[in-house]
Amino acid sequence: MSDPERIFLEAECCVDPDYGRQWNSRDIGPNEDCDNESPWVEYVRADLVDPDALGQVKAENAELAESVDDLGETAYKRLSKLRDAEAHTEQLEAEIVVLREGLCNIAKVAIKELNSTFEHMAVDTLRDANALRSPGHEHD
Ligand SMILES: [Zn+2]
Repeated sequence: MSDPERIFLEAECCVDPDYGRQWNSRDIGPNEDCDNESPWVEYVRADLVDPDALGQVKAENAELAESVDDLGETAYKRLSKLRDAEAHTEQLEAEIVVLREGLCNIAKVAIKELNSTFEHMAVDTLRDANALRSPGHEHD
């Protein structure tokens, strides 16, 4: 009996520590993945492997790994910018609170001054009204 064309190695996540990873020589379909949906790893008999195809796959893998690194770096840069923006936003919010409190105090002072002005005006108006009415008093 010749070696099987392909054999499968059990996913690492579900290994029984007493037995280690199990090999299986029958075809294992995608629906036989473990509970974590990790597939069995397929191994193809060496004499069936096209060296050009293998080289191509390895080159593609290296390229993909590089892309993943680039993506990681880009994601990190974006995250870093996002953090800066968040810090800046927090600072702006703090400044807005201070400004709002300042405006609130200015408004309170202005209202107090207006009230005082209106009181004086009311007193003046009352005095003027009394002054206008006083000639009439002569006829009493
Ligand atoms: Zn598993």
